[in-house]
Amino acid sequence: MAARKFFVGGNWKMNGDKATIDGIVGFLNASNGNPNVDIVVAPPAPYLASVKAALQHNIKVAAQNAYKVPKGAFTGEISPAMLKDLGLEWVILGHSERRHVFGETDALIADKTVHALESGLQVVFCIGEKLEEREAGKTKEVNFRQLQAIVDKKVDFSKIVIAYEPVWAIGTGKTASPEQAQEVHAWIREFLKEKVSDAVSASTRVIYGGSVTADNAAELAKKPDIDGFLVGGASLKPDFVKIINARN
Ligand code: PGA
Repeated sequence: MAARKFFVGGNWKMNGDKATIDGIVGFLNASNGNPNVDIVVAPPAPYLASVKAALQHNIKVAAQNAYKVPKGAFTGEISPAMLKDLGLEWVILGHSERRHVFGETDALIADKTVHALESGLQVVFCIGEKLEEREAGKTKEVNFRQLQAIVDKKVDFSKIVIAYEPVWAIGTGKTASPEQAQEVHAWIREFLKEKVSDAVSASTRVIYGGSVTADNAAELAKKPDIDGFLVGGASLKPDFVKIINARN
């Protein structure tokens, strides 16, 4: 099996201003990156171009969202074509805040994923169950349903990183234990094996998100099916560099 390259994403969400973002870019550049890790940070849209211009060491920039068509009368939206025009390579889609704060459906997220891939972007595709769904024993069902929406579209998984982010762990300080995360990551790999192929199951990176910190990253990173992280709050702080290097 080809080794899956470790992937660490920083999702800045709707945080930062010019001064604090200069600080984040500063500590990222000072870290010298890590050639063994794909490092991808997602600033708020107004800062995408300036962050891309300022980052060094092959640290990439992702958008936090993009719409399902190239252009038109869609006030407030941005398109994959625009992200490509800025020289960006990645977009995050299906984040739980998009799903649950903004009401994005599996169908819309699948359409956006297809369009982003067609436009030449790579996608960090987020899935995850809510607390009540976990407590009702529906963790597998919910994550599989969210994934099935893109499997049905026959997407190219070589351009996708799956981020498993249990909603109850996002921004709550309540991280999934390494065992809890590993269990779901292994289910995701089984799902890919059954619904797509052995090769896709073995090669697709499945990263964990939800209250990842410099303190818990190393233990999570030891699990065989955890191929990296999508980090929110802790990606705004210099300790993010420790998370990038959690597996070294
Ligand atoms: P958090 O967010 O690390 O602040 O929990 C993770 C995410 O939403 O991607």
